[in-house]
Amino acid sequence: MENTIVKTLIYDNQVRLYFVDNTKLINEILSLNKETNKILKLTLGKTISVMSIITGSLKGAQRISLQMTMSDPKFKVFADADAKGNVRGYLNGELLKAPADYINKISLDRLIGHKGTIRVIKGSSMNQFTGITDMPYRNIDDDISHYFIQSEQIQTYIEANIRFGNDNCIQFSNAVYAQLLPGATPDLIGEVEHTVNSNQEFFASLNKYSKNNIEEKLSRLFKDVKVIGYSPIQFFCGCSKEMFYGMLYSLSKGELKQAINNQEPINTACQICGRAYRFNYNEIQGLLK
Ligand SMILES: [Zn+2]
Repeated sequence: MENTIVKTLIYDNQVRLYFVDNTKLINEILSLNKETNKILKLTLGKTISVMSIITGSLKGAQRISLQMTMSDPKFKVFADADAKGNVRGYLNGELLKAPADYINKISLDRLIGHKGTIRVIKGSSMNQFTGITDMPYRNIDDDISHYFIQSEQIQTYIEANIRFGNDNCIQFSNAVYAQLLPGATPDLIGEVEHTVNSNQEFFASLNKYSKNNIEEKLSRLFKDVKVIGYSPIQFFCGCSKEMFYGMLYSLSKGELKQAINNQEPINTACQICGRAYRFNYNEIQGLLK
């Protein structure tokens, strides 16, 4: 099963356990970003992977937006997702343009550094909650778990694994999310983490399993497994030409006038999905009124 979150309850309804093979999604988003550097692929890939599994915990009109700021505050990663499983994300321009001699040698741990922060906005338009935490683990997935433990006071375990092939391509990517339900034995979260870590090969080969045999396979790893549903994840940007009118306002009047006088279009592109938007000189004329 690719790009499908498997939702389960385990240990007699004490733990919610979700997992997903999101190799396809991560490859799609990385190819849109045209990113080739391994550490940047890992940074964006892990962030997207975690966001994709979190969509399984959102309801109705809820959304989640995440901004990760590295110790060097000019380097940032953005991602957002909604309850329908739509996910998008990107590295900011400074990170994409980071000097090769710096970015080719650095580890994820050092890139995040000891002053990295995660800022999360979660909720629906009527009811939003913003929280900020530090990144003590410097590996993204444990740091986002840390965020949930701090802000929602619920024991949460999130893991995102990405395996690279020799050519720097992603062989597979998967994510696991576990959360204790009210009244659960606190130790269970550690037990789930231990079981996931000692069965990496199972979680790395989720694409081999189907709805017919996943429950049986999981029952060999965890007690009292109940598969309660499946939900899709997909890349969706949602940008529109209207959104880019705002960007034209940031150009000077002189630049806009020049485009009109020369009857030239202004071309822009979405930095998330790469979609190009073209404004003809008569559309630009409307802005100067
Ligand atoms: Zn877009």
